[in-house]
Amino acid sequence: MAVLPIRIMGDPVLHSPASVVEEVTDEVRALIADMFETMDAAPGVGLAAPQVGIPLRLYTYSYVDDDDRPWRGVLINPVLWMAPLEPGDPDPDLESEGCLSFPGERFPLRRSERVLVSGTDLDGADVRIEVDGWRARIMQHEFDHLDGILYVDRLSDGDWKTVQKIARKRGWGRAGVSWTPGIDDLEG
Ligand code: ZN
Repeated sequence: MAVLPIRIMGDPVLHSPASVVEEVTDEVRALIADMFETMDAAPGVGLAAPQVGIPLRLYTYSYVDDDDRPWRGVLINPVLWMAPLEPGDPDPDLESEGCLSFPGERFPLRRSERVLVSGTDLDGADVRIEVDGWRARIMQHEFDHLDGILYVDRLSDGDWKTVQKIARKRGWGRAGVSWTPGIDDLEG
């Protein structure tokens, strides 16, 4: 297993729709094992394959709630349904999220409160996840990655301008920029 470099905003793989996983090969299994290790090292609550440069429709997630209940897994070829968004502006304290592909920053974003995700696991078994709150946010964020959408693409105009400024300053927003957890420590 290995910690993989994580692509940063601007790399084309992050901005293009990923392809369906036709078959869970040994290569895909190895990728997923590396993705778990990379996600934990970052640390992050989710990681989609395009973030490590692989344009496939799969993501890992890992989250521990206030009651210390761990929630962790992988979704392959997921389909997502979500409840309609509540109208209004996001609360910066309660509704801010971050992304390992725009590391070290957080911005407020309104997400649906409830989602249903279905897909398969490593063994081809059906997975069906119905969650709300922060878990629903994680599912929407990771699912977006598979369609080539970063959360920063969904921000208000003002925050989007801030994102562009940060990207310019750090030399992001172009192809081939990545960081490696444990080496670069951009998240933490
Ligand atoms: Zn992300």
